[in-house]
Amino acid sequence: MPNWPKSVWARQPEMTTLPPLPDIQSLWQDTAPPAPTPQPLAGDMQTDIAIIGGGYTGLSTARALAARGVDAVVLEANRLGWGASGRNGGVVSGKFRLGFAEMARRWDIDTARRMHDIGVEATENIGTLLNAYGIDADYRASGSLRCAHRAQALESLRAECDWLRGTLGDDAVSILSPEEMAAETGSHDFCGGMLNRHGGIVHPLKLHRGLVAGMRRDGIRIFDTSPVTAIERTDSGVRLHTPGGTVNARQVVMATDAYASLTPATRPVERRVVPFRSAMIATQPLTGTAGEALLAQGRSYTETRRMMRWFRKSGDRLLYGGRGAFGKDDSPAAFAALERAMFRQFPQLQGLAVTHRWSGLVAMTMDSLPHLGRLDDRMVYAMGYNGTGVALSNWIGPHVAELALGGTSQAALMGQLPLPQVPFYPIREVGVRLVAGWYQFLDAIGK
Ligand SMILES: Cc1cc2nc3c(=O)[nH]c(=O)nc-3n(C[C@H](O)[C@H](O)[C@H](O)COP(=O)(O)OP(=O)(O)OC[C@H]3O[C@@H](n4cnc5c(N)ncnc54)[C@H](O)[C@@H]3O)c2cc1C
Repeated sequence: MPNWPKSVWARQPEMTTLPPLPDIQSLWQDTAPPAPTPQPLAGDMQTDIAIIGGGYTGLSTARALAARGVDAVVLEANRLGWGASGRNGGVVSGKFRLGFAEMARRWDIDTARRMHDIGVEATENIGTLLNAYGIDADYRASGSLRCAHRAQALESLRAECDWLRGTLGDDAVSILSPEEMAAETGSHDFCGGMLNRHGGIVHPLKLHRGLVAGMRRDGIRIFDTSPVTAIERTDSGVRLHTPGGTVNARQVVMATDAYASLTPATRPVERRVVPFRSAMIATQPLTGTAGEALLAQGRSYTETRRMMRWFRKSGDRLLYGGRGAFGKDDSPAAFAALERAMFRQFPQLQGLAVTHRWSGLVAMTMDSLPHLGRLDDRMVYAMGYNGTGVALSNWIGPHVAELALGGTSQAALMGQLPLPQVPFYPIREVGVRLVAGWYQFLDAIGK
């Protein structure tokens, strides 16, 4: 019998009360500049486009609208950076959960090429944004390394690498030998790997805070601790209600990703994604310890196991994360499992302290792709990054803006395909649990 996890469905303990909710304690919170003083919406105001959600998606949409001279208001339920954008792993990647070769098989080569180009564009956009706003967010364009845990996984990486180089002409990818992997990672667990020089790592909350500060300097209105509790249709558009006031707009953009169940206002999108808990831990500083030399290239690293584990450095600490079997809520047992995996992988770290433990929700979609689209004549959405949204959600704004202004999206599959309701949503917990349990079982028996 496989060892089924009790549950992987994230019941979202943060959501038992109405926002604003307390900030989570993360390494990012402890190492970012101080949070801006809360600026809740007070009174009634008018704008062209109202945006629900102050994460990267909401901010990039507001920036794109401002660049076109269109007035927008961002409404965030909690403190700024409370959502995934302030607590993620900071891995800047142009990957989609659906591979490019699979896209070529399902659609055609031009579609796969366009999606690949978008991924590269999105990763490069992070450097552009940081420069434009003068933000220091510890960004390193150091690429990523996929670490093969067994020979069959390495064969798939090799096939993927050949395909990317041969068919898409992407010379930024290459295969590394077991020796190179040991030198790169400090772990002897890997029989090879695939290096991808696109992308890198960033401090996600420094990025978010820098963007908010820069956008406010530019006069863009961003309100936090202002949950949208209801959306009313008016003669000329919509009226968004918050505890402190209302916003009248022509259009509303839903940019709530995995957190659409905070209030009933975003119910139209809530059932289009499945929230999945992703957790991470951080060690004490490694300087002067046996772990000091680990991950010297400062890339991001992912394992090829189905219940994927990933790691990176931040300053001189190691961050170790994973998705899947983390129980209904954050629990000491769930984080202990992650710690055991980290110490198994890196025995050099034995005896060192884990100083931070935190988690958040990623939004999975049925087709493993992010989506932007229109719900009706007044509502637009962008969401479903499937755990790889740092680059894409910061890139997507101009496409969401175009939709909100009545145009059509040029975001290839993300804008062309519908984002349907998740079937059997009320029993999604069972589905997620079964899939995750099955994956763990296959990993455990080496399949
Ligand atoms: C633990 C974790 C690790 C991750 N690691 C990575 C990584 O390393 N690399 C990567 O590429 N991606 C990663 N991701 C995914 C990435 O962080 C997300 O895809 C991205 O941040 C999504 O941004 P967003 O703006 O769409 O959503 P969010 O940042 O989640 O913002 C949505 C916001 O909407 C607000 N909201 C909800 N309802 C309302 C309402 N009614 N009124 C007002 N506001 C509302 C919420 O408070 C929230 O702040 C990770 C995610 C998590 C949770």
